[in-house]
Amino acid sequence: MKYGYAGNILKIDLSKNHIIKLPSENYTEKFLGGRGLAAKLFWDLVPSYAKAYDPENCFICVNGPTAGFNGFAGNRWQVCAKAPAGKTEAFSYANFGGRWGTILKYAGYDGLVVQGKAAQPVYILIDNEKVEIRNASSLWSKSTFEVCDLLKAELGKKISILTIGQAAENLVSFASLLADDGASGSGGLGGVMGSKLLKAIVVTGNNRPEAAHPEELQNLAARIKQMRKRTYSVATPWAVPGVTKPHICYGCGLGCARQTYIYKGKRYKSFCQAAGVYVQPEEHKIPPGENQRLATRLCDGYGLDASVMMAMIPWLKACYQEGLLDEQKTGLPLSKIGSAEFIEKLTRKIACREGFGDILAKGTIEAAELIGEGAKALLSRFVAAKGNETKDYDPRLIPISVLLYATEPRRPIQQLHEPSMLLMMWLKWMRGDEDGFFTSNDFRKAAELFWGDPIAADFTTYKGKPLAAKKIQDRTYAKESMVLCDFKWPMTWAFYPGGHVGDPTLESRIFSAITGKDVDEDGLNRIGERIFNLQRAILLRQGWQGRQDDRVLDYYYREPLNENDVYFTPECEVMGLYGKATSLMGATLKEAAVENMKTEYYELRGWDAESGWRKI
Ligand code: SF4
Repeated sequence: MKYGYAGNILKIDLSKNHIIKLPSENYTEKFLGGRGLAAKLFWDLVPSYAKAYDPENCFICVNGPTAGFNGFAGNRWQVCAKAPAGKTEAFSYANFGGRWGTILKYAGYDGLVVQGKAAQPVYILIDNEKVEIRNASSLWSKSTFEVCDLLKAELGKKISILTIGQAAENLVSFASLLADDGASGSGGLGGVMGSKLLKAIVVTGNNRPEAAHPEELQNLAARIKQMRKRTYSVATPWAVPGVTKPHICYGCGLGCARQTYIYKGKRYKSFCQAAGVYVQPEEHKIPPGENQRLATRLCDGYGLDASVMMAMIPWLKACYQEGLLDEQKTGLPLSKIGSAEFIEKLTRKIACREGFGDILAKGTIEAAELIGEGAKALLSRFVAAKGNETKDYDPRLIPISVLLYATEPRRPIQQLHEPSMLLMMWLKWMRGDEDGFFTSNDFRKAAELFWGDPIAADFTTYKGKPLAAKKIQDRTYAKESMVLCDFKWPMTWAFYPGGHVGDPTLESRIFSAITGKDVDEDGLNRIGERIFNLQRAILLRQGWQGRQDDRVLDYYYREPLNENDVYFTPECEVMGLYGKATSLMGATLKEAAVENMKTEYYELRGWDAESGWRKI
């Protein structure tokens, strides 16, 4: 085991029952870990012709150099593969909390690659050096929660499990993955595991990683605690007094608004998107009740992506209200949306592809195309991106997000959080909230430090946004490769006396303290850029058409931003010139201005401005 790294990648071919180890050093030197490591493995191992459910596709699980170190919200991990996250297949990725990724490192591995297809349902058992492919016929058709119970009963409570539900077995396009501690992964990756007849991956291990400079690491942990000694109080409608309690992820050491609750003796999560899956837009400020918690448990149990379901349910309601769908044809109690009966029927029908559920299993955009023009016209009220995810950080409100959405195959939530979190913080101050402290001046200073120009904080203009988007992407790709949690990173703000702008040097200092490698902020961001470019190359190799495909959904150009389109600013307020609050209600994207932004962005990236391909 080297500082921060386990030193090995485990590669398993299910078609050949073949298990080998590769040295990870060949990959981590240039690509760090996490998303970077997965992208490089994918580039090297998956032929360009391979489809998502072909045996040649690789299902890649990776941790990063911060896994195993407490105090940095750095025990996150990733899964990558080609997946049908939207109508077209593309390289996809999911970011998880929980312990599975860190335990994989404790078992001796920085990554796991699964290729091929088993002849019958199997699960993989990784116990340090011992690796086995075992029969999982008795686990097939079981929910994720049942699989965890059965495996823990057989193998003991200490194991960590990644598994799929019935949705992934049935190749639902937005099937998710579930690991213990309620960690779920989106992006359509569940079906890839299902296509390989791989029901679960169990890990256990006991080799803790060491840091090259443990004292420096401790100092950094103390400094970060100081910067975030209070938790920023994002609206937490998923916190229900007497039912849920704050619950910090394994090895985080910092904490956020994450909550869990106990139901029938078991712990379930209540957090953010998962808790909002069955909340109708008009109910956003009401604490979720038991039906909402049931919906999250059903999605996680069957393995359905909550961010897709969250858009699909109100879209179904709108289709019903407009007379485009009825209860008889769909077999769904559409007049009872909000009830336990509806969500139970809907999730089962999609996961098992029963009747109308088979159409919905293709994703909301494709289902709307099959239903007709009226259903397609309603998509703009609910669906944000090509991957069918719910609307949240609207590019008509946050112009940096235009480029973030346009250049990714799915909603890039880890990037979108960076500008939207700062906007939320500023809105609190501007509205005079008790815990508002992030002034217009702070916002501009943070924009200068993190995005390259104070004008990037003025959301009423496209000026400075291409550079901001590039910087956010490069930083995010480094963060996703370490792998740090985007609820905490980057540390763009802090509770300093007399100033609230954060520190962009922390990630590289943590990386250096753990690995002993001398990398500064610019060096780490250059690695992030390399990883972003590699992912771009993968997408182009898979058929992404460069500039032509770098587009957000068309309705953003056509339809005005409405009241309540963005949950945290119903009045569509942003910071404008001189720090003035300005409403963008009614805004649409302007084609020519967006195209100019793209040209500037390609030039900053060193890409050909006409094609959006990299210059050679
Ligand atoms: S910040 Fe929150 S979501 Fe992120 S690792 Fe910590 S507890 Fe988990």
